Amino acid sequence: MIEYHNQNRIYLQSEPLLRTNLVAHGFTGRLGGVSTGKITGLNLGFRVQDNPESVKANYRLVAEDLQLNFHNMVLAKQTHSDHIRIVTKDDAGKGLTRQSDIEDTDGLITNLPEIPLVVFSADCVPLLFLDPKQKVIAAVHAGWRGTLKMIAGKAIQKMHQFFNCDPSNILAAIGPSIGPCCCEFDTTDASLFPSQYLSQQENNKVLVDLWAMNRDQLIEHGVPSQNIDTSRICTICHANQYYSYRTHKERTGRQGAVIMLRP
Ligand SMILES: [Zn+2]
Repeated sequence: MIEYHNQNRIYLQSEPLLRTNLVAHGFTGRLGGVSTGKITGLNLGFRVQDNPESVKANYRLVAEDLQLNFHNMVLAKQTHSDHIRIVTKDDAGKGLTRQSDIEDTDGLITNLPEIPLVVFSADCVPLLFLDPKQKVIAAVHAGWRGTLKMIAGKAIQKMHQFFNCDPSNILAAIGPSIGPCCCEFDTTDASLFPSQYLSQQENNKVLVDLWAMNRDQLIEHGVPSQNIDTSRICTICHANQYYSYRTHKERTGRQGAVIMLRP
């Protein structure tokens, strides 16, 4: 992935996605927004303790920086589910410029241009997909619960089911999130995960590799491994540049992952 800067705002962009020229996209960071106080920065979460006007202003900055259609951005009420929505023309602007009825949803898919799909997170794994052939995009929020529910794999399935996407054409980008260096669980919770993603620590804790788990889910669903671009940036190790729920607890903001088909 490459960094794109505007003033002190830093975005990560996936080179294979850029090369298609079909989408505007990016993973946002924390620096350079208008939010103040404990969540100072480019907070994109409305359901944290921030002024909604500041959040909206941050979205406007992101839209300008990444050349996204601000008015049409679609945000879901994320719940760590495996529910994925096909976004239609009627959904344009929901959650940002219009009242939203997109509840209990952690994945968004569309084949419509000019409708940016947004997921937000603070440690959870954000994923962006593009099928350059069928011109279909997706944005997915996969925390550890969503990863266990296989939401990334299910999104690939849905792209195939609804838009006839061949998974072997799909490009995937996995954004900044909690890394295998910091994703610590106690042994009881860790037992929920397949053992190949675990590494036992001396302190009786277990580290889980959510990046590898999401990557393998995509491969199992037919996405070639060379099509998967992982940022490998851990939001806890880089908590000065990213919002991190585990680092800053309840009083933290959210960064975003956003993708839009160009007109
Ligand atoms: Zn880390």
